[in-house]
Amino acid sequence: MKKETFVTQKQIEEIAKTYPTPFYIYDEKGIRENALALKKAFSWNPGYREFFAVKATPNPFLINLLREYGCGCDCSSYTELLLSDAMGVKGEDIMFSSNDTPAEEYRLAAQLGATINLDDITHIPFLEKTLGYLPKTISCRYNPGGTFSLGTDIMDNPGDAKYGFTTEQMFEGFRILKQKGVENFGIHAFLASNTVTNEYYPTLARQLFELAVKLQRETGAHIAFINLSGGIGIPYRPDQTPNDIAVIGEEVRKVYDQVLKSAGMGDVAIYTELGRFMMGPYGALVTKVIHQKHIYKEYLGVDACAVNLMRPAMYGAYHHITVLGKEDAACDHVYDVTGSLCENNDKFAVDRMLPKVDIGDYMVIHDAGAHGYSMGYNYNGKLKSAELLLHEDGTVQLIRRAETPADYFATFDCFEIYSKLVQ
Ligand SMILES: *Cc1c(COP(=O)(O)O)cnc(C)c1O
Repeated sequence: MKKETFVTQKQIEEIAKTYPTPFYIYDEKGIRENALALKKAFSWNPGYREFFAVKATPNPFLINLLREYGCGCDCSSYTELLLSDAMGVKGEDIMFSSNDTPAEEYRLAAQLGATINLDDITHIPFLEKTLGYLPKTISCRYNPGGTFSLGTDIMDNPGDAKYGFTTEQMFEGFRILKQKGVENFGIHAFLASNTVTNEYYPTLARQLFELAVKLQRETGAHIAFINLSGGIGIPYRPDQTPNDIAVIGEEVRKVYDQVLKSAGMGDVAIYTELGRFMMGPYGALVTKVIHQKHIYKEYLGVDACAVNLMRPAMYGAYHHITVLGKEDAACDHVYDVTGSLCENNDKFAVDRMLPKVDIGDYMVIHDAGAHGYSMGYNYNGKLKSAELLLHEDGTVQLIRRAETPADYFATFDCFEIYSKLVQ
C-alpha cells in the first residue's frame, strides 16, 4: 500500500538548491487541519484544552500554528518552560508534567504560573519546601499498575513504568493536598503510547472518570480537570487505519455523560497533552542517496543518519520511505537504508522493498514530525539538520537553521582550543 507525501520531487529539488539535504520539512496545511479536527472533536466540553507536548517538536514556529487553535504547552523540563515563556505562553496555558523533577524546574514552573502535575506523592513535601507554599491548583499523575488492555490486547505495562502515584497514594495525596489548602485538583494519566485505535482514550477516560468520582466522594477534593495526556498514535505503516479523532471525542463524551455528569461532576474540564498525533504525520525527513553498496546485502547510504531520526535505531520503529519520482514504480528491490554512524543499528530501514534506487535520488522518510528532530543527538560529531516549514501557498520558510561545527564546539568556548576550532 502507498503513503502519500506532502511534497513532490519537483518541490524538493527546488528547495534543495537553497537548503541542502538532509532536512526536516513540515506541512502547515496538515498541521492546521488536524488541530482544527481535534478542537472540534472535544468542543462538547467547554473547558477542553490541548497542551501540546513540547518535547515532541520543540519549534516555536510550529507551536505557534497550534496556538491559533487554542493549544497551550505541556512542558517537562527547564528549557521547555523557557521556550514556552519566550513564545508568550504563560500561566495556565502551561502544563508542567515532569518526573524526577529538579527543584529549580518547579521554581520556574511556579514563577510562570504553570499548572504543576506531580509525578509522585513525595513531591508534595518537596514542592512545598521548594516554593515555601503550595499552588491553589495541583494535578497528580496516576499509575493504576498492572497492564493496560483494550479487550484482550495488552497495550502497555503501567506496573513497570516509573511514572505516577499508586491508587492508594492518589487518595492519600489528595487528602494531604486538600488539608494543606489546595483548592482545585487535576488527575493525569498516560497509560499506553502510540495507540492506533479509537478505543484508547474512551477506555482511559472511563478509568479516570470513575477514579475521579471516588476521589471527590472520599476526599471532598474539587476535581477541576482530567488530563488524558498523550498516547493517541499515528499509522506509521501504510496498512494501518488512522485514528478518527471525531469518533474518539464522541466516545469520550459518552463516557463523560455516563460517569461524570450522572455523578454531578459535569463541570470537569478535559485536557489532552498530545504530541505525536499533532505533528507526527506532518513532518518528514528528506535525505539523498549518496552511496550504494553491494556486499552480503544491498545497502543504500543516505546523507541523514540516526542523529537526525533516532526512532528506527532506538526502537526498531518503522518509518515508511518514499523514493521521490518513483512513487508509481514497482517495489521489487530489497535494501537496507543506512546512515553514516559507526553503529550498525544506524539504519532507517532493514530489508525494505523499494523501487530500484539510484544515487542522487531523494527519499522522504515519513511521519518524523514528532519525536524526530527533537530526539536528535550529536554522536560521531554529526550535526543536526535544518527544519523547514512548507506553507499552504507552497512557499518554504526556514524555521531552524542547520547546526554548524561552531554549535558543536560551543561548549569549549571557555577554553583556548575554541578559537582554533571555529576560526
Ligand atoms: C511524551 C508525553 C506526552 C506526549 O506523548 P505523545 O505520545 O507524543 O502523544 C504527553 N504527556 C507527557 C507527560 C509525556 O511525557
